[in-house]
Amino acid sequence: MKKAGIALTGIALVAVVLYAVRAPLSTALMGRVLERNMATSLLDTLPDGLSVILCGAGGPLPDPVRSGPCVAVVAGHNLVIVDAGTGGARNLGPMGLPVGRVDAVLLTHFHSDHIDGLGEMATLRWVSAANTEPLPVHGPEGVDEIVAGFNQAYAPDAGYRHAHHGDSVAPLSGHGMKAVVHPQPPEGEAEVVYDKDGLVAQMIRVNHSPVDPAVAYLFTYKGRSALVSGDTVKSANLQHFAEGVDLLVHEGLSPRLVQQMNRAAARAGNEVAARITADIPDYHTTPVEAAEIARDAHVGHLLFYHVVPPTPLPGLKAAWLTGVDAVFERYTLGENGTGFSLPADSSDIIPID
Ligand SMILES: [Zn+2]
Ligand SMILES: [Zn+2]
Repeated sequence: MKKAGIALTGIALVAVVLYAVRAPLSTALMGRVLERNMATSLLDTLPDGLSVILCGAGGPLPDPVRSGPCVAVVAGHNLVIVDAGTGGARNLGPMGLPVGRVDAVLLTHFHSDHIDGLGEMATLRWVSAANTEPLPVHGPEGVDEIVAGFNQAYAPDAGYRHAHHGDSVAPLSGHGMKAVVHPQPPEGEAEVVYDKDGLVAQMIRVNHSPVDPAVAYLFTYKGRSALVSGDTVKSANLQHFAEGVDLLVHEGLSPRLVQQMNRAAARAGNEVAARITADIPDYHTTPVEAAEIARDAHVGHLLFYHVVPPTPLPGLKAAWLTGVDAVFERYTLGENGTGFSLPADSSDIIPID
C-alpha cells in the first residue's frame, strides 16, 4: 500500500512538472514538426507513378473532415490540382505537398465551391516559393473571366506583399494566375489540356446541367490512369472514358440523407434550405450510380469525393454508402488526405498513409 502511494505521488509530481513546462515543451515540439514538414515532400518520396490525394473531399456544405473539392495529382515531379475548393491550398502543405510546387490548376466548372480557394492557391504558391510565373489555370470556356476577376480582386494584396517582402519572396512577375482556355469537347472526344514529363491530362464533357460547361479530367502516366469526375449526373460519356482506369475519383450525393435534411428543413420552417435540398439531387450522382459506373467500366478502385451531405455521426457513413457493396466492393469513402499511389508500369493500387 505504501509503495503504491509513493508511486502515485511520483506520477502526480511528474504531471505537475510537465504541466508547468507545457509551453516551452510544445514550442520545441512545434519547431521539430515544422522543420520536418518543410524538409520533406511527397513529390520526392512517392514511388515513380501516378498518385492521387484528396486535398478536399467535400462539397459546398461545411464538413470537419472534408473541405471544399480539391484533388492533387502527382506524377513524376508534376503536381497538378483539380479544382480549388475552400481550404484546399492550406491542406496541401500538411499533407506533404508543397503548394509552392503546384504546376497547374484544372477547373471542372465554375460553381463557387470549386473555385472559392483559387485566390489562396495562387497566393500561397507565389509567396511560399517565390514563383516568378503566375499560376496556370486551365478550364473550359469562361475560365479567362474567372481568372481575370480573381486577379483584379487580389491585385492590392500583391502590391502589399511585394512592398513588404521584396523580390526574394514575392517577385511581382509571379503573382496571380494565367488562364488557359480549352474548348469543352463534344461527347465521345477528349481534349488534351496538359502534357508534361509523361503526365497527360484530358478534358471530357460531363452533365451538370444547368451548369455548362462542366468537365471531368482523365490522367495517364506510364501505363497508369485516374479519372476525376467533377460534378455530374451519372454520365455515359464519363463511363466511356472511365473504361479500365485504375482509379475513378467520383462525386457522390446520398439522396436518402439529403431527403432527411429536406424533411428537417421543412419541419423547421426553413423554406430556403428546403428548396435547396429539394433541388440538388437532380444534378449529382448517387453513390450507387457511381458504383455502377465503376463496375460497368471495370475500374480498379472507386474513391468517393465531393461527399454530400457530410457524415458527422457514427453510422452515417454506412447510411451514405447504402447499396454500394451490392454493386461494387473496391471503393473508399474519401476524407481530406485520402489518397492512392499507382506505381509506374504495374497494376498495384496502394493507399497512401
Ligand atoms: Zn460542387
Ligand atoms: Zn457543381
